Amino acid sequence: METEATLEAGEWVLNGEKYWIGNGVSGDYITVYAKTEDTDDRHGNHSLILVPTDAPGYEAEPIPEKMAYRASEQAHIVFDDCRVPAENLVGERGNGFKMVAEFFNAGRVRVAAHGIGLAAAAIEEAWDFVHEREEFGRDVADFQSVQHDLAEMRMEFESARALLWQAVDHVQRGEDAERWAAMAKAKATEVAAECAEASIKLHGGRALLNDERITRVYRDVRMPMTYEGVGAVQRDLIYRNF
Ligand SMILES: Cc1cc2nc3c(=O)[nH]c(=O)nc-3n(C[C@H](O)[C@H](O)[C@H](O)COP(=O)(O)OP(=O)(O)OC[C@H]3O[C@@H](n4cnc5c(N)ncnc54)[C@H](O)[C@@H]3O)c2cc1C
Repeated sequence: METEATLEAGEWVLNGEKYWIGNGVSGDYITVYAKTEDTDDRHGNHSLILVPTDAPGYEAEPIPEKMAYRASEQAHIVFDDCRVPAENLVGERGNGFKMVAEFFNAGRVRVAAHGIGLAAAAIEEAWDFVHEREEFGRDVADFQSVQHDLAEMRMEFESARALLWQAVDHVQRGEDAERWAAMAKAKATEVAAECAEASIKLHGGRALLNDERITRVYRDVRMPMTYEGVGAVQRDLIYRNF
């Protein structure tokens, strides 16, 4: 948010730094949100600028090994008098906040779908495991409390997915999109975490093995819960657009 860009002799000159930027090392371009205006309107202060990763003054290093979402690369980027042509401005000058807000409506339903996928994987793993594992002379799935755990996961999964479908519909029609996208994002990603937790419990000691799919799901649910705004931020948006 604090990265600045000033227009000098037909070029944007960027200074600042960003952390967690997807493909910031290996990508050819990134879109940078930078402060370009000096107004009191905090919604009119920023612009979006396309920056090639070979631009002079662009430095990026990979963020070290993460505990989750390890197949995806993120970067720590520094702009030190980084220069790009004036024409690299995306859309209108000073309109960055509005463009990013609009992007988040579509982005957040995609993040919700990421959560739904992880919840489905957690349920599949739990179902398969408890039907294959025998304990005390019977399948683990024969215990009523285990059946209730699976029923609970399914109910929450279906509720979150129904909310996501409704949200997609609202976002596509551009009707009250911000609230619906925020509700779907918070609900689906939190259900993913709950399903991962329940599934881990049902896996007993095997839950601790690194090469189990459920172990990866359990770690990866932190990702959609976090990016494009944590749960508290989604609740702020839901309340504001009530
Ligand atoms: C793997 C990964 C990839 C990412 N990719 C990108 C990318 O490509 N581009 C990009 O720009 N960003 C990216 N991000 C950044 C991501 O959007 C932020 O990490 C996320 O929005 C949370 O911000 P933060 O990490 O600064 O947490 P903070 O804002 O420091 O929040 C820390 C904690 O404070 C609390 N908190 C924060 N805000 C509130 C609030 N309003 N009310 C109550 N409590 C609150 C919450 O408990 C929260 O967990 C990525 C992050 C990760 C982890």
